[in-house]
Amino acid sequence: MSKKEEKPYILSRPLTLIYKLPISKTLPFWEGLKQGKFMTTKCKKCGRITFPPQADCPSCYSSEVEWVELSKEAELVTATAIMVKPSSFAQEETYIVAVAKLKEGPKAVGWLKGVKPDPAELKEKIKPGMKLKVETIVPKEGSPYYVFVPA
Ligand SMILES: [Zn+2]
Repeated sequence: MSKKEEKPYILSRPLTLIYKLPISKTLPFWEGLKQGKFMTTKCKKCGRITFPPQADCPSCYSSEVEWVELSKEAELVTATAIMVKPSSFAQEETYIVAVAKLKEGPKAVGWLKGVKPDPAELKEKIKPGMKLKVETIVPKEGSPYYVFVPA
């Protein structure tokens, strides 16, 4: 007698990962976003402004850093539309990631909103050097964040 084999089956369902990240040294950045401020750190010894915020200065290695508010003014360095998304952003529409040079000097990576992630529109409307501004977003759920938008 042949034993009836049970077929293996696959059940698909989304899994949510909750990451616990220590943010004590970057807390003013997150608190700032909630208040519409774009904060980072500045070295008290050599004056270097870093982004993202750093506990130690990458130039002179001093740990004497202070919090400063950034102007939210930036210039586009480069941008690209992300169509192949990481699993954590799988539910998102195609989005644009930009590298921008902040008025204060450091470069920052962020989403570029206010432009359709369409190749024709990207080529026509997005140019290196174009003026951007930083907008702070406080979602109903999850952490506050920032995006770039055309100025
Ligand atoms: Zn320094």
